[in-house]
Amino acid sequence: MSRSQISLAVPGAQTLKPYQPGKPIEEVERELGISSSLKLASNENPLGPSKLAMAAASEALSTSAFYPDATAFRLKNRLQQEFDIPAEQLTVGNGSNELIELIGRVFLEPGDEVMFSEYAFIVYPIVAQACCASSKVVAAKNFGHDLDAMSLAVSQKTKLVYLANPNNPTGTAFDSKEFESFMKAVPQSTLVVLDEAYTEYINDATVPDGLSLVPNYPNLIVLRTFSKAWGLAGLRAGFAFASNEITDLLNRVRQPFNLNSVALAAAEAVLDDKDYLAQSIRINTEGMKQFENGLASLNLNYIPSRANFVTIDFCEAADGYYERLLKQGIIVRPLGIYGMPNHLRVSIGKFEQNRLALDALSRVIQP
Ligand SMILES: *Cc1c(COP(=O)(O)O)cnc(C)c1O
Repeated sequence: MSRSQISLAVPGAQTLKPYQPGKPIEEVERELGISSSLKLASNENPLGPSKLAMAAASEALSTSAFYPDATAFRLKNRLQQEFDIPAEQLTVGNGSNELIELIGRVFLEPGDEVMFSEYAFIVYPIVAQACCASSKVVAAKNFGHDLDAMSLAVSQKTKLVYLANPNNPTGTAFDSKEFESFMKAVPQSTLVVLDEAYTEYINDATVPDGLSLVPNYPNLIVLRTFSKAWGLAGLRAGFAFASNEITDLLNRVRQPFNLNSVALAAAEAVLDDKDYLAQSIRINTEGMKQFENGLASLNLNYIPSRANFVTIDFCEAADGYYERLLKQGIIVRPLGIYGMPNHLRVSIGKFEQNRLALDALSRVIQP
């Protein structure tokens, strides 16, 4: 593209560096001429999709000549029943990613400030920049959110704060006390987006449950996704819970058919599959222990994680380790783009997959 066309774009897009997804298995196998590689790079559910969700999805295919339900009536009512939250205060998204962006499009204008933590999910700065807002990055504490520092840094210019709990790519989580003091310190004119993509993996009453806090804070938006513990990353479904006014605004700008009928049906059905969710969580808890023990016996440092991945600190540039793992058929996530060039993030898999990953790690750290 010629420079002149680049200059037609909004300033944010002109210099935007796009999101880098985890390397797809087929690409790695083609490039390295290997087969049977293992992708532990995108925090996907290693169980594969729920059988109930698949059955509902195939059935929905037969109605796919029709447009999907633009109001997502059935899914929202199912969510209301599941989480005891009013359907009128829900907004569905094509993954929570779309909601992160939709919130930016509804609330940000050039000159507004968006705040997030150092090492927070990379989509936040991308959305801020695409909306021509300025980013205020607050230094992390032990790789996690420093909510005290963030509340001190909020100013009248701060339109939006994005928080991820647990955070990706560090796996850290803040507790209810920290979060509630933060919410009390932040002015109503600042919207707080609490992104709970990994919350299902946490069984700890000290970690806030955002859904229960929305009624107390009219400036709070909570995001949930079907991509992780619910195992539907490829179908793209998530939702936002917020005040009536915020929900009304989000739904004015939301594309009416942003969730396709297959995704709507699968998301609704998977909420009935409690065995699947329980198994997802159990596999992850066991896999996390397996990784923690394995990493400790390899003398590798890692950031203690509350999510479905673990981030390893190689205490020197991690690129070489990444490349050597790839050659062994193990795809993990490099974190240079997060300013963490010494770290690699590994998603927790099933027992045998974790064993393969740990074996490969033991080979690549050999001098
Ligand atoms: C994976 C992830 C999401 C979920 O993205 P979807 O668009 O719902 O697939 C959201 N936030 C964070 C922090 C994530 O890691």
